[in-house]
Amino acid sequence: MPGSTNSPPTNLLGLPQDEMRNFLASLGEKPFRATQVLKWIHHRQTSCFHAMTDLGKTLRTRLDTVAEVRAPVVVADRVSADGTRKWLFRVDSGNCVEAVYIPDGHRGTLCVSSQVGCALNCTFCATAQQGFNRNLDAAEIVGQLWAARRILAESDHPGPDITNVVLMGMGEPLLNLDNVIPALDLMLDDLGFGLARKRVTLSTAGVVPGIRALARRCPVSLAVSLHAPDDALRDILVPINRTWPIDLLLSACREFAGALPRQKVTFEYVMLDDVNDTPEHARRLAHRLRDLPAKVNLIPFNPFPGTRYRRSHTETIDRFRDILLAADVMTITRKTRGDDIDAACGQLAGRVVPRSRRVAERRGVSVAPAPQGA
Ligand code: SAH
Repeated sequence: MPGSTNSPPTNLLGLPQDEMRNFLASLGEKPFRATQVLKWIHHRQTSCFHAMTDLGKTLRTRLDTVAEVRAPVVVADRVSADGTRKWLFRVDSGNCVEAVYIPDGHRGTLCVSSQVGCALNCTFCATAQQGFNRNLDAAEIVGQLWAARRILAESDHPGPDITNVVLMGMGEPLLNLDNVIPALDLMLDDLGFGLARKRVTLSTAGVVPGIRALARRCPVSLAVSLHAPDDALRDILVPINRTWPIDLLLSACREFAGALPRQKVTFEYVMLDDVNDTPEHARRLAHRLRDLPAKVNLIPFNPFPGTRYRRSHTETIDRFRDILLAADVMTITRKTRGDDIDAACGQLAGRVVPRSRRVAERRGVSVAPAPQGA
């Protein structure tokens, strides 16, 4: 029962419409109150119940004791030379996650995290190095978007509004579906952020049952981190391939796309020098994807301290892309953004940069492999 003396306040930031209605019903309130509260929180960015003037004083005072609107706290805010901005959010006393804002013309994309750390151990990803700590709850996932919007609105040079959200930050979203689904519901709902389905993308390393559940519960745009055209190589790069190998993964993708007319599945493919980037790999990939509504995003590898991989050469990436295009597979090379602030794909580590490193950076000493540019 909300409001009993021992229960902690309910964070309303993570409640989609149905849960908000239930919560307010438990306080004896009518369903239309949910609409009012959602609008205050998400349209007017209000976290203070006393400012919610159409609610009535008794309800406002009650909410103050049993509920809260609490976003993760920003502990670091860095802006890249290319305008990309990265926030480090504290989600509890021991844990931080990162979100990245990528302005591009009229479009503003926010990349959000779904877990603290990651359990999947992909060998080329910085997040994997810290291991898995815990799932984020729905309020912590939505809170990154809520806080980013608020910070941008208060900035002198805010850049475009957030028009797109990608769950491509830290963590594997399909291993945290019970929190990710309500967060997605809020992103799509007109009483929440009101984003179109095609502007919200969930990226997975290939959790097959999760892809099926997503299709059923909240189909948004799907991106799949493929990275290899055959199981022997993918077993090494993306170890959950041993549980759900490529054939199984691609048939789940085929079903997913079949349920959503005109939707393509994006396949991400990180370009690793001399590992997965030969013309033969490209031909095998094209063959694998031949009967799927697919598009391929080639991601130049972003290095991080301690990695054994190198980024493929630009000519190699271009040749790989051309082979796919010649086989009628829609392909683009993703621009590398924000690598000077460790905000590029796979560089999110959720740590405050250690002091020694910051000092070294200020002195112009490079302590990480030099970024190789987009
Ligand atoms: N767990 C999810 C989402 C997080 S990773 C997934 O695997 O899709 C988001 C994307 O960044 C994935 O495609 C991932 O493979 C890619 N990525 C990870 N490390 C990278 C790196 N060092 N350089 C470039 N891309 C990387």
